[in-house]
Amino acid sequence: MEIYCPKCEWEPPASARWSCSCGHSWNTFDTQGQCPECGKVWRETQCLQCKKWSPHHDWYHDYPPIDLEEITEETAVEEGA
Ligand SMILES: [Zn+2]
Ligand SMILES: [Zn+2]
Repeated sequence: MEIYCPKCEWEPPASARWSCSCGHSWNTFDTQGQCPECGKVWRETQCLQCKKWSPHHDWYHDYPPIDLEEITEETAVEEGA
């Protein structure tokens, strides 16, 4: 599976860690963005290199198009959809 930042193409190593608002840190790509501690789903993921946020599914580059309605329902901030 190809996973890299859609903005700078940084590939997160297995040792990369993201922090949840609950304080837990884990590799978000192991769980498709869901915190294993509190169950919160992070629909956007911050790149640890360029610090920019991108929709979590945009990091996966060999997936076929998926049901965007289900994924983007809570992330339509800029589009105002
Ligand atoms: Zn990046
Ligand atoms: Zn959490």
